[in-house]
Amino acid sequence: MKKLAIGIDIGGTRTKIGLVDLTIGQVLQTTIQATETLDAVRFEQAIGEAIQTLKAKAAVLQADVLGIGIGVSSFVHADGLVDSTYGFIDFMEDYPLANIIQTQHALPCRIDNDARLVALGEALYGRGRGLERVLVLTLGTGLGLGFVIKQKLDGKLPFAHMGGHLSIVQNGVKCYCGKTGCLESLVSATGILAAAERANWSAKNPSLPFTVESIFQASAAGNTGARELIDAFIEQLKTGISNYINLYAPDVIVLGGGVAKGLAPYLPRLLDEDLLGPYKGYQTSITISELEEQAGILGAAALFL
Ligand SMILES: [Zn+2]
Repeated sequence: MKKLAIGIDIGGTRTKIGLVDLTIGQVLQTTIQATETLDAVRFEQAIGEAIQTLKAKAAVLQADVLGIGIGVSSFVHADGLVDSTYGFIDFMEDYPLANIIQTQHALPCRIDNDARLVALGEALYGRGRGLERVLVLTLGTGLGLGFVIKQKLDGKLPFAHMGGHLSIVQNGVKCYCGKTGCLESLVSATGILAAAERANWSAKNPSLPFTVESIFQASAAGNTGARELIDAFIEQLKTGISNYINLYAPDVIVLGGGVAKGLAPYLPRLLDEDLLGPYKGYQTSITISELEEQAGILGAAALFL
């Protein structure tokens, strides 16, 4: 009998909903929809329709759905309450997401922070497979962090996903969390674009789009301003990674999210062998996610493993 679960990854702009075969770690069918951010009833209807479609698919496969796992970019409590999304989904303030979904669909529902579930997906089915200590950094709009030990998520909800707010610069840029010099405010897409703005990137390069991808490409093509921005970004990320190695001693560091797509040429710089100097015999590696957008769906469904 197949072990199936539904995994939902709720982002600020898009929501990905998939039916997952937990035994083989495969997403059998996916729906992607724009996230309804203003109206709770419309939100519940939209994801409800997708859930019904996937339940019907499971019925065709003659398999039961064990439950619905959900990742959302917010503080999430163990009882399935979303504390706050810091405004990116208006109605999700003290919103009992798990209870609502459970009641509407007569299936158990478990939720967790989205970056943590991406990490669980990578640890079980991606580049962390077979390894004991897996650290996953999701470099997107923000910097998400999840740590998995022996196939289980580490840390207590709702506080366990804040590792991106590691302060690495004294008196640095102000982060939305209230601190200054947070790694998240420097190495996320938002942080890179803010640095580009401070360096007058658009005025100096009026023909180039104002995107992280474009800055990476310009750097590779020899644009001096772009190279300075990317060099500073790589050094900041390297400082963060060296601190995470001290804290977590991971067997692998997996980099995911939109920003990670440009990082392949820089991996040897990010994991300088000197970082491992104090640890005789300790080995770690650094790699880029291959699951990409599927990691969040797989990790959310894996709450039912
Ligand atoms: Zn911060």
